[in-house]
Amino acid sequence: MSETMSFQAEVQQLLDLVVHSLYSDREIFLRELISNASDALDRARFTALSKPELLPGEGDPAVTLSFNKDLGTITVSDNGIGLTKEEAIEHLGTIARSGTKAFAKVLKERGNSAEGLIGQFGVGFYASFMVAHRVEVESLSGEPGSEAVHWESDGGGTFSVDAGKRTTRGTDVTLHLRAESQEYADQWKLKEIVEKHSDFVQYPVMLEGERVNQSTALWAKNPKEVTEDEYIAFYKHITGDWRRPAFWLHFRSEAPFEFGAVLYFPEERPFDLDHPDTKKGLKLYQRRVLIQEHAEQLLPRYLRFVRGVVDAPEVSLNVSREILQNTPIINAIKKQLVKRVLRRLTEISREEPENWLKFWESFGGTLKEGVAEDGDNKESLLPLLRFRSTTAEGWRDLATVKAELKEGQDAIWYLTGLDLERMKSNPQLERFRKKGWEVLLLSDPVDEWVVMNVPSFETIPLKSVAKADLPADEDPIAEEAKKQAEPFVGWLKGLLTGQVEDVRTTTRLTDSPAVLVDGEGAVSANMERILRAARQDAPKARRILEVNPEHPLVRKLVVLQTAGATEQAEPVAKLLLDYARIAEGNLEDTAGFAKRLQLLMLQASGS
Ligand code: ADP
Repeated sequence: MSETMSFQAEVQQLLDLVVHSLYSDREIFLRELISNASDALDRARFTALSKPELLPGEGDPAVTLSFNKDLGTITVSDNGIGLTKEEAIEHLGTIARSGTKAFAKVLKERGNSAEGLIGQFGVGFYASFMVAHRVEVESLSGEPGSEAVHWESDGGGTFSVDAGKRTTRGTDVTLHLRAESQEYADQWKLKEIVEKHSDFVQYPVMLEGERVNQSTALWAKNPKEVTEDEYIAFYKHITGDWRRPAFWLHFRSEAPFEFGAVLYFPEERPFDLDHPDTKKGLKLYQRRVLIQEHAEQLLPRYLRFVRGVVDAPEVSLNVSREILQNTPIINAIKKQLVKRVLRRLTEISREEPENWLKFWESFGGTLKEGVAEDGDNKESLLPLLRFRSTTAEGWRDLATVKAELKEGQDAIWYLTGLDLERMKSNPQLERFRKKGWEVLLLSDPVDEWVVMNVPSFETIPLKSVAKADLPADEDPIAEEAKKQAEPFVGWLKGLLTGQVEDVRTTTRLTDSPAVLVDGEGAVSANMERILRAARQDAPKARRILEVNPEHPLVRKLVVLQTAGATEQAEPVAKLLLDYARIAEGNLEDTAGFAKRLQLLMLQASGS
């Protein structure tokens, strides 16, 4: 009996895009189906290792293409793992590839421009509907006792499932081609597409009794014999990304353990890279048998954007995920991979600076995590880092900043914050501006961890301009103003008890009357905000209010307070703290501020 079911809402949206798309590369539907077939063959091979009772497939593992010109159909068959009825409903009715939430979000944002989406999501099975008005799937799972299933849909809102006819393990996907896609039901056309997109698929792809793909595992080849097109096609095959990768890396390593790897660096940041449901990690093979689709343990988290395959002949076939985690062989391979990846990135940053900046804009934030996470490789990571700064338009690297330090500048100064534009007008920068000293603007949350782990760069200390210990400026006028302000400062400190740790005069300001700085050794205010936002326990930052004794407003307050006119001075003096909070873009107590402001307004209007 046939049951009709609705596609998950996100699939419906996706299908709507696919069906109506004017996507020019429609022929990639075949690549997607062959990839799925090849994955199913991989899975069968691997599952059979631990499950001898798995139903055998008929004949050698292969993908078989057939077509019927008169009926306008193409069929992609495999003798892989197959699908149970439940799996067919689950896998061919929902989106298996990506966090559906994130997907729906992007779909909404982009409206109806399917072009980018189809590539970005690598729509997989659903790509069939670009060329077919009806798709049928016949499958028998390898699970002993399974029954064949027949799945069918016209790409509208629903699909149906009923009993299938397949008698041996595997899957047939049949496409009923649209009128304008009849060209694909043709031997030469199919052959051409396979050669173009699926040549290296590990299993034979058969067409009319003839093998149409070459099938040499790309990573097993000599890099000198692999063409650029082959690298790109392989990347698309394993990732489902439609764009070409930015760079790649292909090598063999013999010691201490033998392995081969082809690693890719994507061109654009995948929208779901940081989504918790996104599967990351390289494909791990043991002599061309896929052991793990997403071997997360092969690379540290901060390199999670790297895609590719590793083939390690000495990895045991029968290991579980947990055991794999801590085997000496995996750890040794990981170490090698990290070294090679960082070496490649260093090469690019030196030889192709523009490409490096493009890459940095996509993945710099992720790579920076390594400075905190991977102490062993910190030295290799530092030269890769790029920062914004007060004195340059573009990106800066630490070596250049160091080389261009001004006379008397004995530190690389930085300011952390969360909003680059706002940071540029932070009063803490005033004195540095006046001196013409460069200040790095670190507006990425992870930067707080970076600076915590990088006390210095090639002997030059890194220092925060927001910390209390600024070197004193020897300026006689300032000294005089400072002395005169002392009693006022003591009085103000009493007035702000409990709100700030200390009040003192400063020479760091030129235009502003007051500024908040971070107490020495305490957690920074920025760090506190980041931790709070992440719902973590945050120690309270100990803030110090610094006043500029040369500022006309402060001078006026000093005069009033010294003359005993504290009643007149008080409402204005209290607002100095509000002012400092507003200037750094961080006024929390808005109600209190409104009250103090009203008091001042009353006073100013003579009421
Ligand atoms: P993906 O391949 O990225 O997971 P698809 O939409 O292409 O996404 O396929 C969804 C799922 O359907 C696959 O993950 C797999 O579980 C199942 N599937 C598709 N084709 C086959 C096949 N030929 N044999 C077995 N399972 C398949």
